[in-house]
Amino acid sequence: MAPAPDDPLATYRAKRRFDSTAEPSGAPVAAPTATVEGAYVVHRHRARRLHYDLRLEIDGVLVSWAVPKGPTLDPAARRLAVHVEDHPLEYGDFEGVIPSGDYGAGDVIVWDRGTYRSDEGTATDGLARGDLHLELTGEKLRGRFVLVRTSGRSRAGGDEGDSWLLLHKRDEHAVDGWDPEDHPRSVRSGLTNDEVAARGVGALDGPGDPVGPAAPIPTWPDATADELAALDALGAAGTWSLGGDEVELTNLDKVLFPAGPDGVAVTKRDLVRYWAQVAPHALPYLWDRPVNLQRFPDGADAPGFWNKAVAKRAPSWLATWDRPDAKEGKTVTHLVADRPAALAYLANLAALELHPWTAPTRSHRMPTWALIDLDPGPRTTWDELLVLARLHRTALDHLGVAAMPKVTGKRGIQIWIPVADGLAFEDTSRWVQQVSEAIGATVPELVSWAWGTEDRKGLARLDYTQNAHNKTLVAPWSPRPAAGARCRCRSPGTSSTTPASVPTGGPSARRSTASPPPATRSVP
Ligand code: MN
Repeated sequence: MAPAPDDPLATYRAKRRFDSTAEPSGAPVAAPTATVEGAYVVHRHRARRLHYDLRLEIDGVLVSWAVPKGPTLDPAARRLAVHVEDHPLEYGDFEGVIPSGDYGAGDVIVWDRGTYRSDEGTATDGLARGDLHLELTGEKLRGRFVLVRTSGRSRAGGDEGDSWLLLHKRDEHAVDGWDPEDHPRSVRSGLTNDEVAARGVGALDGPGDPVGPAAPIPTWPDATADELAALDALGAAGTWSLGGDEVELTNLDKVLFPAGPDGVAVTKRDLVRYWAQVAPHALPYLWDRPVNLQRFPDGADAPGFWNKAVAKRAPSWLATWDRPDAKEGKTVTHLVADRPAALAYLANLAALELHPWTAPTRSHRMPTWALIDLDPGPRTTWDELLVLARLHRTALDHLGVAAMPKVTGKRGIQIWIPVADGLAFEDTSRWVQQVSEAIGATVPELVSWAWGTEDRKGLARLDYTQNAHNKTLVAPWSPRPAAGARCRCRSPGTSSTTPASVPTGGPSARRSTASPPPATRSVP
């Protein structure tokens, strides 16, 4: 539908793709009135360049100015304000992330809001005259402001581009030297732009508490002797019931791990049994996160492949998560292993490695673990790797940060660090990089920072790059695809609960009550 030629929101709508951005398209605008007072809002908008958007409700729309340095209570300051297109009234509540590629891409918070009153005539007239005198009553801004047009239109066409000046009169609300950047939080949600950005693309829903508190970690029952006996009684394929959920199992006698030096091969049935037995210990690291799989349908000695999407024929009880900001063509629906039967299902897919995301589904751009990956080079000895691990322990102890080491099942050691809610990946990544570089500098003979494997001269690498969205390390309790996996759980009903395969150990599943890493900002 073509906009009415006199529709004040025509420009606003023409610039935006409402099937992509979560910004409001706006209701039809009522006939203009002579506005004397109304609502105002100031957005802090990190687009290509940081700016503040001052918006006044005049004649049924939000008349808008982009203020690069932001409004201030400082009466000595004169701030450039560029008149931009009118926005719909609904925009006053908008807070969120505008996708890259869309107009104004970046993050937006409601930095201030309140009401204004036009001091000299109506705001309608003042706007036309290029001279608005306003008394603002907001949460951050107060007192008498003047908006005065200083130029004609500086750009061809449209309603935009005329330059104005915004200044605060010297009244009882004036504060010399007042800087809007000293007051960074949203008056709507209490969040900073960083925190809104960490939530990902879309509009913030509620008036705050956007992430929701972390739920307590559930507990899961052990597989019963009867359940394990039923697994062994199955033929090559069949339906197995575990924890009340039914899972279809196939090719149960297929060898997934060829025999190693001990001559024992591990079948898919063994793998299913292993996961059923360790499920209560492994699920705390998996239950609320997407999990990426490395599948080896032809066994550990044949090539595998990554799998991030849920199969069409997955069981109906399988937990999934739809990523809200998935790009076209990318995986939208992810697996979440939240119960023992889900692990049996993944074993049946020959998923030999499980890689949980470091961020939970409730805040998939905010990690709850920071990861340090001590990646040995061909020349790195186990003793040298222990030197690196102990140096990290000393450093983390010194910083007062709780952390747990985990062997990888191959040659490496990872350090998992629970972090408080509200950190972005850029926070954890930068912090881990600082810690690892400081430690690496003390043992330059052991560590290389070269990117390419062949450039590292066989030395170890301290890899902080896993602290990023959708980057993962292998889960605690996950097998690794290598021949000779040891499996001591093949007889049902025995007392053995020794983990099968290569034990990978596990960091603490508890959420840390310690402060987040000091190099990162704290959370309200
Ligand atoms: Mn803007």
